[in-house]
Amino acid sequence: KPSKKAEAHIEGASQLGVEVRKEVDFSLWYKQVLKRSEMLEYYEEVSGCYIIRPLAYNIWQEIQNFFDAAIKEMGVEDTYFPMFVSQRQLEREKDHIEGFAPEVAWVTKAGSNTMESPIAIRPTSETVMYPYFAKWIRTHRDLPLKLNQWCNVVRWEFKNPQPFIRTREFLWQEGHTAHFTKEEADTEVYQILELYRQVYEDMLAFPVIKGIKSEKEKFAGGLYTTTLEGFIPTTGRGVQAATSHCLGQNFSKMFDIVIEDPSAPAGPDGKDAKKMYVWQNSWGISTRAIGVMVMVHGDDKGLVLPPRVAATQVVVIPCGITSKTTEDEKKCVEDKINYVVKEMKSAGIKAKADLRENYSPGYKFNHWELKGVPIRLEIGPRDLSKQQTLMVRRDNGVKEPIPLADLTSRISDTLKCIQKDMFDRAKKVYDDHVKLVLKWDDFVPNLDNKNFVLAPWCEEEKCEDSIKEKSTRHNTEQEAEDEKAPSMGAKTLCIPLEQPSDPPIIPGETKCVSCGGLAKRYTLFGRSY
Ligand code: AMP
Repeated sequence: KPSKKAEAHIEGASQLGVEVRKEVDFSLWYKQVLKRSEMLEYYEEVSGCYIIRPLAYNIWQEIQNFFDAAIKEMGVEDTYFPMFVSQRQLEREKDHIEGFAPEVAWVTKAGSNTMESPIAIRPTSETVMYPYFAKWIRTHRDLPLKLNQWCNVVRWEFKNPQPFIRTREFLWQEGHTAHFTKEEADTEVYQILELYRQVYEDMLAFPVIKGIKSEKEKFAGGLYTTTLEGFIPTTGRGVQAATSHCLGQNFSKMFDIVIEDPSAPAGPDGKDAKKMYVWQNSWGISTRAIGVMVMVHGDDKGLVLPPRVAATQVVVIPCGITSKTTEDEKKCVEDKINYVVKEMKSAGIKAKADLRENYSPGYKFNHWELKGVPIRLEIGPRDLSKQQTLMVRRDNGVKEPIPLADLTSRISDTLKCIQKDMFDRAKKVYDDHVKLVLKWDDFVPNLDNKNFVLAPWCEEEKCEDSIKEKSTRHNTEQEAEDEKAPSMGAKTLCIPLEQPSDPPIIPGETKCVSCGGLAKRYTLFGRSY
């Protein structure tokens, strides 16, 4: 049997491109695609930190542009708070700090002096912001307060850092809002979750399942957490894509964010007004989104970018130029290329020409395929004589001649079609890997076949722990081979908002898949990042 390394190697691959097969050595493939496409560079100085290069940062900006416009429409305003937080503030909400304590990074020295009280770097900003919410919110007229910040946070995680997916510093937006009623807070939680779905599904062509986290997995200190759960088919692992939390009144109680209850104002007899704690939400999406997009869509040639987030959607390359081609013919081709690029740009298509002299067309094809550009157009003297160009799709390799006369409309349509096809393909794979399981005997075998399991569950924490334990792979052969893969058990990923109806859960009758107690709802389980 050939070694894994030999099996993974793509024959004839150049060091400039991807040299390993995605299906055989996924973690090396991921690293090579990111580095060689110039999305990301490893930061040698501090492990778990990475340099986001322009190709990737541009995707983040596309996400920012969309999300920023949508939340402004909802009345959310941008703000910026300091990245430092005192120990006293950080520890004010007990459950919250318990959840984050192991990952908090502290500043303990200033120059050569040890600081009297160390200062924490925000892992998230609830404790940074809420003392000021308490200051600013006095009456119900100060509500709702809806703030958002685009920033970095630091979570000093020790388990397997992975570029974009799990990094020690990451970029995100964090929204923090305060409301008069729980209903208003609830509505917003789901509005934001829907916007996150649009980012993933409509922009990144990455299918997600909406759901609610179990009590064990919810945000530390919150009331309930809604989430989007994604799936990486190559590894069969889940990934939490974004979360929108209802914090309830837990933080407002700890931080004393109160208003006078307008229905029970101060009486003329000097009776104090009734106090009311505000209802709060917080919600965030991070640069993890870029990583999952690469993992799902990339292939053995490199990145495959969904048109909506691609900085370059179309690259035009001169072809068929030989030693027999005259200077005039060459100039004609170049002029035509410049012309069609201009035409596409004015139609809103992000097009560019690659007229570099010293590179062969083959080299350029590989280069732009590695970078995931959705469409390549080839134009040569022969195409010109037929007034056409050859269009090649990055996502499926399909080639098609297009009349130059219809170019912009055909390209626009094809970009839309690629976006849809990429999502539909990923969605089908995801759907095929969610297995409805009713008995425990089918649970682990389905996980081991790289699936998620959707099963009736009792929603008890003890049962959740036991499922994790029972589904942990103990030093199987596969684990031994890939030391980077944690031999982890299944977690509850979410309780999907959309529940299977066949068979329905019958209260008082349907059994939990693991403990045999009574099941409440179908829950999605999986091994996850
Ligand atoms: P949380 O505040 O824990 O709910 O996290 C909000 C979102 O940030 C999650 O849904 C993840 O998508 C993302 N996230 C959490 N931890 C990391 C990390 N270490 N690196 C990148 N993204 C992360």
